[in-house]
Amino acid sequence: MNPPVTTSQPSASKPSLAGLTMAELAEKLVAVGVEPKKAKMRAEQLWRWIYHYGVTDFSAMTNVAKELRATLAQHYTLARPEIVTQQLSTDGTRKWLIRLGPGTEAEAVFIPGVGRAGALCVSSQVGCTLNCTFCHTGTQKLVRNLTAQEIVAQVMIARDALGEWPTQERPLNDGDRQLTNIVFMGMGEPLYNLDNVDAAIDVISDGDGISISRRRITVSTAGVAPKIAELGERTGAMLAISLHATNDALRNQLVPLNKKYDLEELFAAIRAYPQLSNAKRVTFEYVMLKGVNDSLPEAKALVKLLAGIPAKINLIPFNPWPGTQYECSDWDTIERFAEVLNRAGYSSPIRTPRGRDILAACGQLRSESVKQRASERLKAEAAQ
Ligand code: SAH
Repeated sequence: MNPPVTTSQPSASKPSLAGLTMAELAEKLVAVGVEPKKAKMRAEQLWRWIYHYGVTDFSAMTNVAKELRATLAQHYTLARPEIVTQQLSTDGTRKWLIRLGPGTEAEAVFIPGVGRAGALCVSSQVGCTLNCTFCHTGTQKLVRNLTAQEIVAQVMIARDALGEWPTQERPLNDGDRQLTNIVFMGMGEPLYNLDNVDAAIDVISDGDGISISRRRITVSTAGVAPKIAELGERTGAMLAISLHATNDALRNQLVPLNKKYDLEELFAAIRAYPQLSNAKRVTFEYVMLKGVNDSLPEAKALVKLLAGIPAKINLIPFNPWPGTQYECSDWDTIERFAEVLNRAGYSSPIRTPRGRDILAACGQLRSESVKQRASERLKAEAAQ
């Protein structure tokens, strides 16, 4: 093996290989002296340790040459990003606030009893640019795209916490797992970060690694119409649309992105989503806002709007957050709304609010760290 070409760094700043794509892994190997011709094969070897077994130490990679393991350990780690807080709700929901860099934090939420066994709701951006008026994330100023590595790391952190990496002695398979589904319904608009979302889905769905099938990965969008077909073609993921209104006037208010891509354009894009069928339906999310979008005529308008689309509808009771102008619809109202949809043949489960006690419910994700840091700064200034 050639001598490493990068100079060794202090351990605190060693980059982690956990979360990288196959191509990135190969690059990292070449950077420490692995012959380019052999880099792909070596990367595949590491892949299985990193993503199938979830190891956090190069020394566990028993079929990798000792010398290479030592070189890797000298330059890299397999560390996950720092977990700032981890909260467990009384209903089993878990929320992690993850530090991705100084002042950059994102949240991921594990929700038991969703999908085949449980779903991890991942963030695709820190903050969000869309400013949907009922969503807490939209009130956060700081915004940046997450890298594919940072998206994959959320899944790895959840697997760590749930203890779901197989070992030689305990070959876990899908039937034994709690985390079976991934939903891109955390912070951010995934279609504004499609390259990284796509790369992350490649890693998460790879059968030699984390192996969560593309059919169990759902990407939710507020309606970036021109990117919808591309999402389907590139990722093969399931599509979810945050609809929330059945006419442009109201949707313009709730989801301002509608002013750019109106319902007509959005629905043309949805109808063109690749491979739609009864086995591969679009999920429509509809947040129930008291006196705003919850009338029976609106339920009927929704049925009309979805005509001909293989669809399921998720009615989401609005989750209030400090300072919001909205209230959640009454339970009776939600049930009557659902009844109209059911009669029209749509399965329309009312999504039970989960993790409310830890502010982990839909649309409540918003890192408080910006505020906290400001107060820390003030304290520090006062101390001087
Ligand atoms: N930007 C994407 C991904 C975020 S998903 C999208 O809009 O689809 C977050 C889901 O939670 C969306 O359906 C969103 O409309 C919903 N949501 C946001 N705030 C909410 C709240 N306070 N109560 C209930 N659902 C909310």
